[in-house]
Amino acid sequence: MTDQVRQLLEQGFRLGGETTISSPKPYEAKWISRWRVDRVFEAHPDPGRRKFFICVPYSYQNGPLHLGHGFTFTRGDAVARYMRMRGYNVLFPWAWHWTGEAVAGTSERLKKGDESVKRMLLEIDGVPESLLNNFTHPEFICAYYTAENRKVVDAMGWSVDWSREFHTTDLHPYYSRFIEWQYHVLRRNGLLVQGRHPVVWCPKCQSATGDHDRLRGEGIYPEEYTMVFFELDGVKLAAATLRPETIFGVTNVWIHPDGVYQVVERNGVKLLMSREAVAKLGEQLGLGKVVKEMNGHELLGKYVRSPFTGRAVPILPAKFVDVSLGTGVVYSVPAHAPYDYIAVKELRNNPGHLREKGLDPKLVEVIQPIKVIETPGLGEHPAVDAVEKAGITSQLDERLEELTREIYSKEFYSGKMVVEEFRDVSVSVAREKVIERLKQNGDGDVFYDLSGKVICRSGDECIVKIVDDQWFLNFSNTEWKARVKRLISSMNVYPEAARTWLLNVVDWLHDWACTRKTGLGTRLPWDPSWIIETLSDSTIYPALYTISKILNKFPEKAAKLGVEVFDYVFLGLGDPRKLAEKYGLEQEHLESMRREFLYWYGVDLRVSGKDLVANHLTFYLFHHTGIFEERHWPRGVAVNGMITIEGNKMSKSRGNFVTLKQALARHGSDATRLALLLSAEDLDDPDWREKAAEEAGAFVKNFLTIIEKIANEASDDEGPCDEWLLAATDRSCEIVSENLEKLKTRSACSEAVYGMLNNWRWYTRRNRDRITRAAKVFAEKWILILSPFAPFAAEEAWEKLGKKGYASLQEWPKPSTGSERGRVIFSEMVLESLLSDVREVLGLVKGKPVEVKLYRAAGWKHEAAKVMLSSQESNGFEAVKRNRPELLRQDPSTIRKIADNIRDLTQKASSLTEQPAALVAQLLEKETNLLKELADFVKHELNIETTLHGEEDATGDREKTKAKQALPLKPAIYVVAK
Ligand SMILES: [Zn+2]
Repeated sequence: MTDQVRQLLEQGFRLGGETTISSPKPYEAKWISRWRVDRVFEAHPDPGRRKFFICVPYSYQNGPLHLGHGFTFTRGDAVARYMRMRGYNVLFPWAWHWTGEAVAGTSERLKKGDESVKRMLLEIDGVPESLLNNFTHPEFICAYYTAENRKVVDAMGWSVDWSREFHTTDLHPYYSRFIEWQYHVLRRNGLLVQGRHPVVWCPKCQSATGDHDRLRGEGIYPEEYTMVFFELDGVKLAAATLRPETIFGVTNVWIHPDGVYQVVERNGVKLLMSREAVAKLGEQLGLGKVVKEMNGHELLGKYVRSPFTGRAVPILPAKFVDVSLGTGVVYSVPAHAPYDYIAVKELRNNPGHLREKGLDPKLVEVIQPIKVIETPGLGEHPAVDAVEKAGITSQLDERLEELTREIYSKEFYSGKMVVEEFRDVSVSVAREKVIERLKQNGDGDVFYDLSGKVICRSGDECIVKIVDDQWFLNFSNTEWKARVKRLISSMNVYPEAARTWLLNVVDWLHDWACTRKTGLGTRLPWDPSWIIETLSDSTIYPALYTISKILNKFPEKAAKLGVEVFDYVFLGLGDPRKLAEKYGLEQEHLESMRREFLYWYGVDLRVSGKDLVANHLTFYLFHHTGIFEERHWPRGVAVNGMITIEGNKMSKSRGNFVTLKQALARHGSDATRLALLLSAEDLDDPDWREKAAEEAGAFVKNFLTIIEKIANEASDDEGPCDEWLLAATDRSCEIVSENLEKLKTRSACSEAVYGMLNNWRWYTRRNRDRITRAAKVFAEKWILILSPFAPFAAEEAWEKLGKKGYASLQEWPKPSTGSERGRVIFSEMVLESLLSDVREVLGLVKGKPVEVKLYRAAGWKHEAAKVMLSSQESNGFEAVKRNRPELLRQDPSTIRKIADNIRDLTQKASSLTEQPAALVAQLLEKETNLLKELADFVKHELNIETTLHGEEDATGDREKTKAKQALPLKPAIYVVAK
């Protein structure tokens, strides 16, 4: 490492740091620095207060933070801010993940002069060209991005406690001590095993390649294949299969006619398989030298002898055979395998094709499907039935894949063998027995292969390797699984749908290869030739946050801490006095670490993307149940969707990768946060749209203008709409709270933004632009409930309003209106809808309107409405019929209309109260007032003379007809026009 690198590294390692990220909003920079200076978000244990420990997965430092991080982390931050304002002692810490091989992969490719990596670093990540040379050092890459991303975290306004910051790997003073302790405990608890195991392996990195180390092929794991040997003149043609029990139904063997095949020695036996298979399986199967090579078509038409049955079957050509999968040779069972059936059929239909290759069409004509398995619900020859039913005519039809899977699974779970030797034996048992016999007789063997291509981050293609001394996390341990399931069943999961998903992942999770030979990380303490891999060292680190604040005070001593210190702090074992002596620490430091841990742990909420459910999040749960006492287990997890950009999946290769730095420079923090939060919740994928970010920016500007206006102009007078504004504001606050409690961040944010903006608009209309006393209360509450979502604007507005302290630290607003709230809001709701009725009628008038006449419904109609509202009956018409039949004589069809209107109103009111009918009845009592207000409002808003009359006062035929249509709480509207 050069001196320059070391120097730059030291800068990158530095904890804390200045914020110099470019943002178009100067006030945002101001609040970032004030929060930092005043250590506003640092959390200390306080036994008198309820705590809330929230965290997000630390991000991998192989690149800049992007909008995907932005969405998940802003969600977490919004909840952290909300809980803080609710009076909780909130811990929201931060750290950086350096472990793994991805960074090493980048530096390797850069060393090789890979232009695409270079371009990506310069153009997408925005790395200065002058620093690029240093990127051949993996640790420099991590340090560089850590320094960059730290600024982004601040600029995004994430309210983190920086006093607890750390990064991973043994380049950090004490992180590796913590991981060593973790692995000691796992081993002590019998949860770590060493063994022989097939792993996905990168020949270049000489290392197992986990999901996160891959450029391509995520989710692909080694599968067990069986090789079945078919005798051919002293050579054994090795056909690969996932279903060895079907060997009894073999009719022929397939090879790819254009493939290259080799004869290779293995333990004195000559095996024949594709050239690709020899290369890939050489090490795994212990293959010797290649003695012969030939083209596929040279093998066509030859007969080979099948084991078990001893039948001679021909070698035939098939295009669906993949020379790089398995051995490049497969045997054909047309009764049970859709591919085989259609390939036979295609050959039969094209005898000319066979003759071209010098083959006799009779070879194929004689082939008949041979039944091996009987399965309830499937016919005599399941593959034949399935292919014919689907109308498939080509072996390259993609639907064959699905049919194959369906038949495979039905036969495996409910099929019984029908062949003599294994009659009535289940498929799963028969499979094991067939494999055993093949091995015994030297007629076959097993091997592992990948069902698809896996490309390592180093750019190299991976193979399967059997390692003998690999360390595994024993996730298949049933007792451990049961503990994790118990945890999942009892903790909070947001949204609820993710709970079943997690339980399923636990069911199928296998042992996990947790060590690697290369990359950055922590060495396995008892076997330093291994490095603990990236997913396996990032599981219980939230526990480290509880004490890192203290360890950061004496990093040199912390670098030497032994297992027993962590045993004391996290498990309560041992004597702190003796430990203090041994490690040269103050006993108080040890005891305060223990106190911090006991106060903060477990984690109340962990927020992450749904891509982590199947790996990171599940590992997180496993490790916690494997190490800690139950009272320290996680209490809640939230999962969210994955970002798309203008409707497309975000990726560097698509050229639509957006870093947070870019978004911040274009829109500022508040707008970026709002655009992200308003785009989705639950498991839905958020979509980033530039236009939405611009709109959010416009909202922020508007918000600040409104607050400034209120600050400058609000009087102490009361206005006609004050009572309503207070009630509506309280209601909005409640909607925000209720949604945040359920992690419905989009709904919550939308109410804080648009719900409140609409409240303001209606208020200014009704108040005829006078800003009265209630506006001050409104402004205060708006700032506070917007603060979790747009914290910078909130602080700025709080200051403009002349308030003291930080908005971020204020108490969450309490309602100032009581039981009358529903009535007040409902009355305005009806008024608003009546106003739009008037507008609609005016829009239809021919000529120039000069007067609006509002007709109030006659008394008997009110009588009917009251009957409906006081009756338990849901059908208003029936209620009147039963209780006041004489009213029906007036006009049954009007009674029906009244019933419809009352039903609509009651439904509207039900969003405000448990007793909606009572609310409607209350308003009905005050209908005259309501209509007077309406008349006033219409006069003012639309600048047209408006008068109020009783239905019976109408004169003239047209007017009388119109007035008759008046219903309770729905006046008739008659327009006089010139
Ligand atoms: Zn590699």
